Amino acid sequence: MKKAGSNPCSPAEELVVYGRRLLSDRLTTGTGGNLSRARREDNRVFLTPSGIAYEQLSAAAISVIDLDGRHLAGEKPSSEWQLHREIYRARPEVNAVVHTHSPFATTFAVLNRPIPACHYLVGVCGGNQVRVAPFATFGSMELARLTVTALGSENCILLANHGLIAVGETLARAYSTALYIEEAAELYWRALAVGEPVILSSEEMEKSRKQLGIYTGKPDINRPPT
Ligand SMILES: [Zn+2]
Repeated sequence: MKKAGSNPCSPAEELVVYGRRLLSDRLTTGTGGNLSRARREDNRVFLTPSGIAYEQLSAAAISVIDLDGRHLAGEKPSSEWQLHREIYRARPEVNAVVHTHSPFATTFAVLNRPIPACHYLVGVCGGNQVRVAPFATFGSMELARLTVTALGSENCILLANHGLIAVGETLARAYSTALYIEEAAELYWRALAVGEPVILSSEEMEKSRKQLGIYTGKPDINRPPT
């Protein structure tokens, strides 16, 4: 359904818009990362295709698969299509998945080190820290399974030695989570370079999540983070 304002009207068009934002927000370079949208009414998953630069991406090139993994339309799906599909299977309230190799979040993924509550915005992940899912080969079913298990009911997780996954009820929500966690990762990295970051208590994080309209696994889509 088309919303008022500048929202694009189809999942494929939305993916094209947010794919370009990945580049302008410096969450990826080249063809790195991938985005998807689920259309629950007919069990379709719209996914950025493999190997096409975001600047050249068109709605017609967006890959369409079903939840059984059948390729229905568009170009060949991203190599991480199983990762996206398994998240949609496990989390019926999730309609969008953002996967990036954004540099600061991925720095902590490389360290296999969670991003703690160094800033209240870490609360967008749905917990008190962004945890790390174990490593498995990119594009593998093992990576999909390990990530779904580690993600649980939260909104964001680091993939060890790889990158980050953010999920949400809308693409806007999943994308803003990926962006805020990248910002928090950069702040944490800078703070570690100078001294010992102060980490917020779980009580303070609980209050922050309420202010942000986020309860674990159940983001309030009517009140996006500000
Ligand atoms: Zn990746």
